Amino acid sequence: MTTEELKQDAARYLMQTYTRQPLSIGRGSGTRVYDLEGREYLDFVGGIAVNVLGHGHPDLVQAIQRQAAELIHTSNLYYTEPQVKLAQTLVDHSFADKVFFCNSGAEANEAAIKLARRYSHDKYGAGRFEIVTMKNSFHGRTFATLTATGQDKVQKDYEPLLPGFCYVAFNNLEELERSVTDKTAAILLEPIQGEGGVHVADRAYLRQVRDLCSKRDVLLMFDEIQTGMGRTGTLFAYEQLGVQPDIMTLAKGLGGGVPIGACLATDSVAKAFSPGSHASTFGGNPLACAAGLAVCHALLDGHVLDHARRMGEYFSQGLSDCKERHRVVKEVRGLGLLQGMEVAMDAKTVVSECLARGILINGAGEHVLRFVPPLIITQLDIDRLLDTLAQIFSKQTA
Ligand SMILES: *Cc1c(COP(=O)(O)O)cnc(C)c1O
Repeated sequence: MTTEELKQDAARYLMQTYTRQPLSIGRGSGTRVYDLEGREYLDFVGGIAVNVLGHGHPDLVQAIQRQAAELIHTSNLYYTEPQVKLAQTLVDHSFADKVFFCNSGAEANEAAIKLARRYSHDKYGAGRFEIVTMKNSFHGRTFATLTATGQDKVQKDYEPLLPGFCYVAFNNLEELERSVTDKTAAILLEPIQGEGGVHVADRAYLRQVRDLCSKRDVLLMFDEIQTGMGRTGTLFAYEQLGVQPDIMTLAKGLGGGVPIGACLATDSVAKAFSPGSHASTFGGNPLACAAGLAVCHALLDGHVLDHARRMGEYFSQGLSDCKERHRVVKEVRGLGLLQGMEVAMDAKTVVSECLARGILINGAGEHVLRFVPPLIITQLDIDRLLDTLAQIFSKQTA
């Protein structure tokens, strides 16, 4: 099949929910993907921060193959070893004591929202259910999570939304303090807003948010779906920002490409869930958890995390140097291998120009380029992207 034929069939058979690049991807290897015509592309999108080990990582492939042959699925009516082992690994390396597994980011946030409401209800009775979230945030596309998302474009024409949410400006403590009332159960935020254009939370702000939450027994929930699993150079971004949440959600990189989500919490919060209060048929199935274990193992024992930290520093320095040399670059933001570059031109143009030169990048908003490559990205790969951006920006000013 050619890319053109595929494009036509996609228009015919798929609901038209996506704006896609004029590119088909047939296979991948490491930091490269290949289209149906065999052309190679350097991948700085990584399936939107999902393929943390790149494409076809031998340990991940082997773990999936072995587990597929052993047992793919059984339901949560029974115990399975990969699920318990992955939970143990996440608990051993985080603030959390307990894990609930599901299949996506939105579902992880659904679990977090339900857990927060339940915790608050058990402790304070009905009426204390509100969740405060941030403007410009992104938390998913289910009804609860699109309501939690502080962006009109995600909510438009889906009204009525779920009751019990309010929105405040990111990094603004005063506004947050005013919005926390005796109805507030939790605050939900991304330590770095990803889809919203790569905005990093201030450390001082997060510390104050933590204090506010502790004082009022309001749960602090971090959506680390994009920032987790080594993306920022530590396993979770909160480790670098000096603040621990009560609940944290994961997905994207957790399975290295196999769909899996997780909601993590401290014991005192997690006990609000009892048998029957929440569930998922696929959640934590052996195949997905075996993939999650392989990812954790590669990050922690295979030194991918250390590599990601070094590459993150190198990349962020390179992007800052690029900003010094090109006036079209307005700002560089991010942490580790989650980097954003604000440009005084249409981000879509840069995405297309990169594609034409064999590099995949992605936009987050009209004027922000987002880079979320596999964590196995090399200096040579980074240099190639920086050279390509320099070419595109030079042409722009000429
Ligand atoms: C991608 C993302 C989600 C939604 O995850 P899905 O798997 O698409 O449901 C939620 N929150 C953040 C921060 C994300 O980046």
